[in-house]
Amino acid sequence: MRKNVDFLVIGSGIAGLTFAIKVAKHGKVCIVTKSAVDDTATSWAQGGIAAVSYTPDSYEKHINDTIIAGDGLCNEEVVRFTITESTERIRELIKWGTKFDRTKSGRFDLAKEGGHSEYRVLHHKDSTGREIENTLLEQAKKHPNIEILEHTFTIDIITQHHLGLEVNRRTENITCYGAYVLNPRTRLVDTILSKITLIATGGAGNVYNNTTNPLISTGDGIAMVYRAKGAVENMEFIQFHPTSLYNPDEKPAFLITEALRGFGAVLKTRDGKEFMHKYDARLSLAPRDIVTRAIDNELKLSGEDYLFLDCRHLNKNELINHFPTIYAKCLSIGIDISKDMIPVVPAAHYTCGGIKVNAFGRSSIQNLYASGECSSTGLHGANRLASNSLLESVVFSHRASTEAIAKVKKIKLCNDIPDWNAEGMVLNEEMILITQSLRELQSLMSSYVGIVRSNLRLQRAFDRLELLYRETEDLYNKSLLTPRLCELRNLINIGYLIIRAAQNRHESRGLHYSLDYPKVAPTAR
Ligand SMILES: Cc1cc2nc3c(=O)[nH]c(=O)nc-3n(C[C@H](O)[C@H](O)[C@H](O)COP(=O)(O)OP(=O)(O)OC[C@H]3O[C@@H](n4cnc5c(N)ncnc54)[C@H](O)[C@@H]3O)c2cc1C
Repeated sequence: MRKNVDFLVIGSGIAGLTFAIKVAKHGKVCIVTKSAVDDTATSWAQGGIAAVSYTPDSYEKHINDTIIAGDGLCNEEVVRFTITESTERIRELIKWGTKFDRTKSGRFDLAKEGGHSEYRVLHHKDSTGREIENTLLEQAKKHPNIEILEHTFTIDIITQHHLGLEVNRRTENITCYGAYVLNPRTRLVDTILSKITLIATGGAGNVYNNTTNPLISTGDGIAMVYRAKGAVENMEFIQFHPTSLYNPDEKPAFLITEALRGFGAVLKTRDGKEFMHKYDARLSLAPRDIVTRAIDNELKLSGEDYLFLDCRHLNKNELINHFPTIYAKCLSIGIDISKDMIPVVPAAHYTCGGIKVNAFGRSSIQNLYASGECSSTGLHGANRLASNSLLESVVFSHRASTEAIAKVKKIKLCNDIPDWNAEGMVLNEEMILITQSLRELQSLMSSYVGIVRSNLRLQRAFDRLELLYRETEDLYNKSLLTPRLCELRNLINIGYLIIRAAQNRHESRGLHYSLDYPKVAPTAR
């Protein structure tokens, strides 16, 4: 089956939906999403969205906090416009129906998270992402120009390569003509031709075995662009959230938001001793990378599997009122957070790098944009400041939409694209070939390419990955495609990109820490 649209949007989280709503007045939009429409990382965001609201906060303070967290690699111009445009984007979210919590006087009830010098995180209880996702979905579903295809897996974007033309990484005029997607009804590969394509496929946390990311976060968009020879950068900067709930075998790991530490919860050892003073003067509210390495170190010293977050000294009613989801979740596994300490452990949480884009979300491939966690905009640098990612998504989807709207009328669909050729492919009946390879990949990435790295560990990971790569490519080239096989292939590409980027960085900076290069190099890259 073939379909022609003006705008193809891959992903139905905050980045994809915001873009789709904005461009829908200017042409036919198709959103493809590989699972249920609201099965996104966006739906899981707890803490909120960072934006300056009142004095004593200011744009300058938020800019400064973002740049400090980014450890020398932020693009200052990007930081500046993202933060100054936040006010308008928040107004828009509210206009569409998002309800942020307010105090009795009607002002926003702002939270504070690690690395923020002021209270500036707008939230809806502790389920801000769900509130935003529902609001955006309501808008998208009622727009007559937007079609949403659920459970439709995008395999690859279409470029000159599919016309049989030679494309290399230095080619400057690679163009995107749409994408090949798996039709869930026929199980065949459909062709969607588009004038403009937006990749909004989210992060890649599932390349590690403990992650807060939902199962959909398998780095598909980043891998697709890499395979299409587009620019991808900063993949070594994977943010591990210091505090996921220790509950082995639960996937995804349940996040205990930083806002709880902002509210007064304190990190402690099993015997109730504080330890953060050994690592940073900001104690439990130090930036995430510092807290994560501190926990990693304490766990290595003690041999324990987890540490604790203590809320017992906080007002019980206020605690439950602010964090109802966390309270209920912990209670469901027998932990009353007003009486018991919460067992916590770090988990892969956020992919800072990704598809390299300019100030308008444009990738190095013509007519292809990227927004949200799959992109690398220059906002986060070597480390993301908490709650800046939802903000980045709305700012860049807005900017991308303005350029895409201005361009779309001048672009012609390419009608020479061949259909997907599945001749000679057979259905792989043995799921074990995929599940075991995935386990091996996650295990090697967690053991060798996690919070603390070294040359030896990275080389080990690389050598083992090579075998998985060869076996999986072989399977991919012979098999009728399934989402699980494609995800495994994508995650192997992601593993490769993280390892290679980590090997090429001969310093410790932001989220990348190497035992062989423990210092920051004198000049930023
Ligand atoms: C537990 C948790 C808590 C968080 N809390 C916060 C917070 O408080 N504040 C904050 O700013 N950020 C937070 N984040 C990060 C933030 O939620 C994400 O960075 C952001 O929501 C990403 O949005 P997105 O639109 O880029 O991707 P997602 O919301 O992840 O959406 C990705 C979409 O792409 C689709 N997709 C992926 N691959 C394919 C494919 N091959 N074919 C078709 N569709 C595909 C998926 O199905 C999904 O619809 C949190 C993340 C997690 C996991």
